[in-house]
Amino acid sequence: MAIERTLSIIKPDGVQKNLIGEVYRRFEAGGLKIVAARMTHLSPADAGAFYAVHRERPFYNDLVAYMTSGPVMVSVLEGEGAILKHREIMGATDPKKADPGTIRADFADSIEENVVHGSDGADTARQEIAFFFAGTDICPRTR
Ligand code: GDP
Repeated sequence: MAIERTLSIIKPDGVQKNLIGEVYRRFEAGGLKIVAARMTHLSPADAGAFYAVHRERPFYNDLVAYMTSGPVMVSVLEGEGAILKHREIMGATDPKKADPGTIRADFADSIEENVVHGSDGADTARQEIAFFFAGTDICPRTR
């Protein structure tokens, strides 16, 4: 399987619950490597642009309000099949449907406040990484 990069966000509820270390621990235990990371507090314009694909959905305004309600950790994860692996570790969007042992099953309160975001495909991953990180922000693992 190819080495991939994917965009990961620990959302405001995950940061509020002090789950940054626990979420990163699960990514690292799953074989994913953090190659870029920073904390940021999204503006409504940023959150709206990031989730522009959902602009017509009834939950869009609530989603933007949620994503701007507190700081988030944005990261680039790298590894074999990283995009799918990351989504497996996160679990389904709705925590009620997420497999046991996934981040969302263990920690999410609702289909909206679901702790983490992960890119859902190769094109999205490229776009989402570029949304937050310049190429020079990403640190290839030289050891
Ligand atoms: P993801 O790729 O698993 O994050 O799911 P989506 O791309 O479908 O949705 C993006 C985000 O919008 C989700 O992670 C939730 O935070 C939120 N969301 C998705 N579906 C719903 C919904 O039906 N109601 C509400 N309130 N929020 C939702």
